[in-house]
Amino acid sequence: MSHEIRTPINTIVGLNEMILRENVSDEVAEDAQNIQSASKMLLSLINDILDMSKIESGRMDIIPVVYDTGAMLSDIVNMIWVRAKEKGLEFYVNVEDSIPAQLNGDEVRIKQILINLLNNAVKYTSEGSVTLSIQCRRKEGDKVYIAYSVSDTGMGIKKESIPHLFSAFRRVDEEKNRFIEGTGLGLSIVKQLVTLMGGEIEVNSVYTKGSTFVAIIPQQIAGDGQIGEIDLQKKHTISTREHYRALFEAPKANVLIVDDNVTNLMVAKKLLQDTKINIDTAESGVECITMSEHRRYDVILMDHLMPEMDGIECLRRLRGRSGGLNRNTPVVALTANAGGDNQALYRREGFDGYLLKPVSGAQLEAELLRHLPPDLVKMTNTSGFNDVVVGPVLDHRRKQLIMITTDSVSDLPRTLTDKYRIAVLPYHVLTEGGDFKDGEEIETDGILSYLSLKAKKAHSCEPAVSDYEAFFAEQLTKAQHIIHIAMASKASKGYEKALEASASFDNVTVVDSGHLSSGMGIIALYAARYAAEGRSVEEILAQTERMKALTQTSFIVGSTEYLARSGRISSGISAVCEACMLHPVIVLKNSAMKVGSIRMGTRDTVWKKYIKSALRAPAKIDNGILFITYAGLKPEELDEIAAMVKKEVPFETVIYQKASPAISINCGPESFGLLFAHKGAQ
Ligand code: ADP
Repeated sequence: MSHEIRTPINTIVGLNEMILRENVSDEVAEDAQNIQSASKMLLSLINDILDMSKIESGRMDIIPVVYDTGAMLSDIVNMIWVRAKEKGLEFYVNVEDSIPAQLNGDEVRIKQILINLLNNAVKYTSEGSVTLSIQCRRKEGDKVYIAYSVSDTGMGIKKESIPHLFSAFRRVDEEKNRFIEGTGLGLSIVKQLVTLMGGEIEVNSVYTKGSTFVAIIPQQIAGDGQIGEIDLQKKHTISTREHYRALFEAPKANVLIVDDNVTNLMVAKKLLQDTKINIDTAESGVECITMSEHRRYDVILMDHLMPEMDGIECLRRLRGRSGGLNRNTPVVALTANAGGDNQALYRREGFDGYLLKPVSGAQLEAELLRHLPPDLVKMTNTSGFNDVVVGPVLDHRRKQLIMITTDSVSDLPRTLTDKYRIAVLPYHVLTEGGDFKDGEEIETDGILSYLSLKAKKAHSCEPAVSDYEAFFAEQLTKAQHIIHIAMASKASKGYEKALEASASFDNVTVVDSGHLSSGMGIIALYAARYAAEGRSVEEILAQTERMKALTQTSFIVGSTEYLARSGRISSGISAVCEACMLHPVIVLKNSAMKVGSIRMGTRDTVWKKYIKSALRAPAKIDNGILFITYAGLKPEELDEIAAMVKKEVPFETVIYQKASPAISINCGPESFGLLFAHKGAQ
């Protein structure tokens, strides 16, 4: 039935969209808009009636699949937000961050329940807000009882009406609701679906004040991950287009649409005409196979129910053809078969996507965009849209299992900390002018020129225990375990403070990196890479221990004056060094800062000697990445250094990293270090 009814509605909706795209008179546009909303109503009515008859005849099956909780919620929220916004209502979403990231259950029916409850909340509320809250009620083994609650500040329900609320075709408070469209089927279906899934639903309502529906539904946990933070991010989305314009153009893309119904082919082709895609059509599975022998398609849109060879059989043949041109072409099911069981079926059979008729131009474009090779697609300028609204797009960040964190003195570029999702806590720089956060409130060149005024003093300072506590608590909303890479314990109190803070948490481990600056950064990077590979905490810690021994951290210091000022060497030694043009090389050994050697001579000879000595055993060096971490050097000086380095070891990637202010105040200007790892990392 569903299939038979959806096919003609697909034609009505599709061709009506083509009318709306034209420059028609206001009257015709209004008529077409009414056809659009009436078609939507008709469709939802048919769906409800078909669901009811399925339930009544006992044929409504619950079909569990493993699904991504965040993705499911994104779909729902993005849909309801638009409706709430149209009515001027606020829409809030609260999701407990410990909800499992993946669940096993009937995703389609859960969605149906939530959409129904949320639609009602929007429908029966004229001002105020609608809130969706999701919590874990209780756990039993790998079963979790999830409470989905939908609250509104709407008209509420009279006490005496509540017992009838879930009866089919029963609408309550008809006097007040007579202008609100509805059939009285929605809640009845919701109740039966919840019961079929072994759950329960309750309602609390205060007449004229608002209602809360709570559905508690058991689902199986499918994996260790947690959903993590859910953000309602403000992003630009296009809601209505006064003048239609395709989202993209892809004139070099080839798409094949397979459908036995010629009208369907015509509708889909028309809906996609502005994308300039080359579209071929096939009226049967057999024709599709023949056509795909001669041409490689970028995407195939495939109907399911077709006489002789159906879509599934056709897909199997495409995939099974050895050496076939379209063996690996993405195939999207474009069908009139609704329902969770069908969606699961298509997924199982290996379809790359699923679109349900009636389909809109926007849905077709979005699905094709997912599969077309990016080099064939040119996004069209969105400024052509007349009505661009800012709307939230629910962005869910799954809780990472293990996150690596470190301090700003690890001197890593933002690109790398972003890529490896390493969170960074700033050290402090204390000057006579105040206390500044490293890198955030104070920058390297500024602090160096401040210090060059002789009398000025500054020193770096690790964050307080309470800073670490707040930092760990915040990061734990995004990850289940934190490994914090701290600066060499003999060079800074950061390790001690972080360790003390970690005592308040079960799942924070603090590691003494034994290094500072980008040397410490290299250790954090290797740990993060390991974490991204899904290694355990123990494996990452063992790897970090190995890396401690393999990493080389050394700096050649322009002038000893700064080391003396920050109290790292005595002023007497500094005075001797200055007088004799001696430049110490600071090396990190066994977690402590030591003067490794003293180089004598002009700047150039000193640099050359330092570089040669630091890179003296090229065979043992891992030439993947080198940090040249510096303070107070000009670009041409960096080029000079890079040229000298290249003569010794050709590194694949060289990162020029300005040392953080907290590090720079200890080295002073004209200082730099070569920081890298030796071979042996796994
Ligand atoms: P309908 O199609 O009429 O919305 P439902 O079965 O979804 O059918 O709801 C049955 C009746 O319950 C509605 O007609 C309405 O009177 C009442 N109702 C449902 N949700 C709400 C709500 N959030 N606030 C107030 N009344 C509601």
